[in-house]
Amino acid sequence: MTDQWEKNLACASQCGRCHQPLPSFGQRILSVFDHEPICLDCKRKEETRADYQEASREMIGRCMADTEAQYSDPGGYCYFHFYPFSCNNE
Ligand SMILES: [Zn+2]
Repeated sequence: MTDQWEKNLACASQCGRCHQPLPSFGQRILSVFDHEPICLDCKRKEETRADYQEASREMIGRCMADTEAQYSDPGGYCYFHFYPFSCNNE
């Protein structure tokens, strides 16, 4: 149960922004704005937004609170907003 979010997010088959296909072994990263899995091109664009730093700080606070209530691994969920990961560990 606790790793359900990991399946939903890590194994998304397309980018939440540009809808480019994301192969299961390909790298993706979570958006700090809406927690969608997105491709690394879209992440680079996201990072250039003027409100990115503010959204990052807000996201950390919010995701720690959210994941503490719902999941057993808050650190991992927050971590994936800043470090690319892939879905090849099944
Ligand atoms: Zn994309």
